[in-house]
Amino acid sequence: MNEVDFLIVGQGLAGTLLAAELLAAGKSIGVIDADHQGAASAIAAGIVNPITGRRLVKSWMIDELLPIAIATYENQEKRLNKRFLWHSPIHRALNEPSEENLWTTRSGYEDNIAYLSPQLIPDSPEGMKPILARGVIKQTFRVDLPAYIRAWQAYFLEQKILQIDRFDYAALRIGNDQVAYKNTTAKKIIFCEGHQILQNPWFDFIPMVLAKGEVIILEIPSLDLEEIYKSKLTFVPLGANRFWVGATYEWKFEDDQPSEKGKTELMTKIEEDVKVPYTVLDHLSAIRPTIKDRRPVMGMHPENPNLLVFNGLGTKGASLGPFWAAAFARQLMNGDAIDASVHLNRFSPIRKEK
Ligand SMILES: Cc1cc2nc3c(=O)[nH]c(=O)nc-3n(C[C@H](O)[C@H](O)[C@H](O)COP(=O)(O)OP(=O)(O)OC[C@H]3O[C@@H](n4cnc5c(N)ncnc54)[C@H](O)[C@@H]3O)c2cc1C
Repeated sequence: MNEVDFLIVGQGLAGTLLAAELLAAGKSIGVIDADHQGAASAIAAGIVNPITGRRLVKSWMIDELLPIAIATYENQEKRLNKRFLWHSPIHRALNEPSEENLWTTRSGYEDNIAYLSPQLIPDSPEGMKPILARGVIKQTFRVDLPAYIRAWQAYFLEQKILQIDRFDYAALRIGNDQVAYKNTTAKKIIFCEGHQILQNPWFDFIPMVLAKGEVIILEIPSLDLEEIYKSKLTFVPLGANRFWVGATYEWKFEDDQPSEKGKTELMTKIEEDVKVPYTVLDHLSAIRPTIKDRRPVMGMHPENPNLLVFNGLGTKGASLGPFWAAAFARQLMNGDAIDASVHLNRFSPIRKEK
C-alpha cells in the first residue's frame, strides 16, 4: 500500500498548482490524471490581462493576484528548469471613436494607470486589417499552459507520484480518517477535474455554467507580430510564424469536440482581422470550468471532510490559480480559514436547506 498525505485527482492547472504547493511544503502526494483528456489547460492561451471586456473593466483582485502569479510561475520555472512564462503587452484594437474615447477616459483613472497606457498607437500591426488605433495594456503576460502541465507531468512521472489513468469514483473507499483508492491511502483526496467535475458524485451540486471554447492555430508567414494582439479575435504569437487565435464562447453545446459552427465563427473573424495569406494548422476545443458566480471554489464536502475540491478557475485560471492554490494549501496544512468568496459552503446542499 502506498500512503500519502494528499491524493489529487486531475493534473490540469488547478491540480498542478496545488500539488506543487504541497510538495514544496514537504507533504507527500499522489496524483491521478487521465492524460489531460478534455483539459482546458491543454489548449488555453494562458493570457493574464488585468483589464478586460468591452467596458475595459479591471479584473477581480488583480492587484493582489499579479505579483503572486508571477512569483509562482518564475519559481516553478527554476524548479523544473523549463520556460513557460512569457511577458508581452496586449495591443487592443480600437475600431470606433467611442472605443477610443472610453480608452482615453479609463486610462486616466488612478486605479488603471499601472495597466492602461494613455498613448495610442495609430493603425494596426503590419499584415492586419486597418483599424482606428491600438491601446496598449501593460503588466500582461502569458503562461504557456500546455507546456506547463506537460513539464509537471514529466516531473511527477519521474518522481513516481503520477498515475495516468481515469479515476473510478466507485473504487474510492471513505474511512473516518483516511480514504483508500486501489493501492493508495491518503489522509485527504482533492478533486481538481475542471469541467469533468460534473461526473463526480460528491461535488456535482456545484453550479457550473460551462463555457466551451474553440481555437485555431494559424501559420502566418509574413506577420511580424511580437505582442499579443486583440481585435475581433486574440492573436498570440507562438514563435516560428505560428499564432494561437481564439476563442469562441459557447454556453450551449453538445460535446467538447471542435465543431463546424465554431470553425465558421473563427474563420469569419480571421478574415475580418488578417490581411495577408495564412494556413490553418489546427482546430482545438475544450470546456472552461466556469461557476455561476465566476469565482473559484474550494473546501471540504459537507458530509465527508476527507473529500475536498479545488475548481472554478473559469476563464482566468492563469491569474486566479496561483493565489488560490496557495491559499487552499495553507488551509489543508495549517487549517487557515477559507475566504467566504471562494468557499464551497456557498453552494453546499446543507446551507441551501437552511
Ligand atoms: C479556449 C480556451 C482559452 C482559454 N484561455 C485562457 C487564457 O487566456 N487565460 C486564462 O487564464 N485562462 C484561459 N482559459 C481557462 C483555463 O484554461 C482554465 O481556467 C484552467 O485551465 C482550468 O484548469 P483546471 O485544472 O481547473 O481544469 P482542466 O485544465 O480541464 O484540467 C482538469 C484535469 O482533470 C483531469 N480529469 C478530469 N476528470 C478526471 C478523472 N475522472 N480521472 C482522472 N483525471 C481526470 C483531466 O484529464 C484534466 O487533465 C481558457 C480556456 C479555454 C477552453
